[in-house]
Amino acid sequence: MIGRARILSIVLLSLLMACNSHEPTEETVPAALIEQEMAVSVPMEPKPPHYQHKLTYESTKNILIGETTIQAWNRTSIPTDELNIQLFLSAFEPSQKQPPVLPKSFSRAYPHGVQYGRMDIQEVQVDGFPVSFHRDGAILKVELQQPWSANTPREIQLQWTGQLPGIHHRLGSEKEAAWFGNVLPILSVYDGEWRVNQYEAVGDPFFSEAGSYEVEVTVPDSYHVVMTGEEEASNEQGSSKTVSKVDRAREFVFAITPNHQQESIRTSSGKDIHLYHRTLSKQTVSKVLQEAKGMLDYMESRVGTYPYQQLDIFENEMFITGMEYPGLVFVRSDRLQDPKGIETVVHEIAHQWFYNIVGNDPLNEPWLDEGFATYFADEYLQGAKLPSYYAEEKRYLDRHFPQTKIQPIHHYPDWASYWRGNYRKSSLMIFALQQELGEEAFSRFLKEYVQEFEYQIVTKDEFVAFVKGYAEKDMDSFFQDWFK
Ligand SMILES: [Zn+2]
Repeated sequence: MIGRARILSIVLLSLLMACNSHEPTEETVPAALIEQEMAVSVPMEPKPPHYQHKLTYESTKNILIGETTIQAWNRTSIPTDELNIQLFLSAFEPSQKQPPVLPKSFSRAYPHGVQYGRMDIQEVQVDGFPVSFHRDGAILKVELQQPWSANTPREIQLQWTGQLPGIHHRLGSEKEAAWFGNVLPILSVYDGEWRVNQYEAVGDPFFSEAGSYEVEVTVPDSYHVVMTGEEEASNEQGSSKTVSKVDRAREFVFAITPNHQQESIRTSSGKDIHLYHRTLSKQTVSKVLQEAKGMLDYMESRVGTYPYQQLDIFENEMFITGMEYPGLVFVRSDRLQDPKGIETVVHEIAHQWFYNIVGNDPLNEPWLDEGFATYFADEYLQGAKLPSYYAEEKRYLDRHFPQTKIQPIHHYPDWASYWRGNYRKSSLMIFALQQELGEEAFSRFLKEYVQEFEYQIVTKDEFVAFVKGYAEKDMDSFFQDWFK
């Protein structure tokens, strides 16, 4: 985009110079120049951010070396004199005041003892010029010398080196495999205000706009790279380079492994699901793939088209059960081994629609993705038993945890209370909404909601307003009751 802006200004400049030196009348201007002039006068459309990451992994030191280029537009009407980039790997440095893991989860997160990570930024450039920057925990802050005006692009380049911590979390490593959830620098959301945050120990504190990605990962050739999108690998002199290009994704993630096996299945609409595993029996692999296919088919018919050609499921050892990323989900080994753990697999698949396609602020309104992902996992797994299953779940919640509220993540002291509010109570609300609207209106609502907000960020107010278009009665008291 920057490149095109520069080319257009050169064209404009030479056109003006041509006009000044020769003073052509309209009749004497060649048709080609008129066409160029028309091209110049068309303003460029503001676009979602475009990321290019060139990454090299050094396996002996567990280090990732990165060059990141972000082309982004200020798509608001409000200029800003700063730039913020989330560097979530920084949260794993020893100097961080706020640990990314609750103290009671430390032994599970660091089974081999605490080994910190770090993120070093060597250089930041904006529009080709080095700029000064500083760090505030997991946030990289750049003061701009010239304000970033409304509807204009900026190009940001970062040179960095990341030391992966010895952890079992959304990022981590075990037995030569490594996974890189929320490791790549990502632009903070700017909607007239910068939405920045630290790495919270509870919830998924990752708020981002959908963008396009071109990523290249170089690893020793004994490794296989699994990425968001469709991977293309090529080998050269002992190393392997894997690339992936994705038009629309809310984040980009990858994992590397020398020893996972790949088994695949094709869905009814011709999408490929790849399971990367290293502890599963043949029978378990078949069961996981069948259920993943069933869920993807189910979501496509119930909600809308899955946006990519493939979906990868990667087995790892993180202390949380599963984590969703666009086109690639991480699921903990024991969840894949346990027949009941299929719930985690289908939940992460549902997130492909609710989190990736329809985005939301997962710090302040996490129920917008977790409520739907939980609801659809339950609807798929329970089928006709869903009403009685949810009646029992509601009785249990009302009896034992009547104070449970649907709230922003910082209100919850631990994962269990966060789960009760943003997974269970929120999924019960979606079910109640289905009852309230009736199945026909609810089905229409689902498909149209996803279409209306695809690759956008939806808020609670927009959600409530959208629901009202499908209801025959006043919904204010419904939402007041569920959110009180
Ligand atoms: Zn979830």
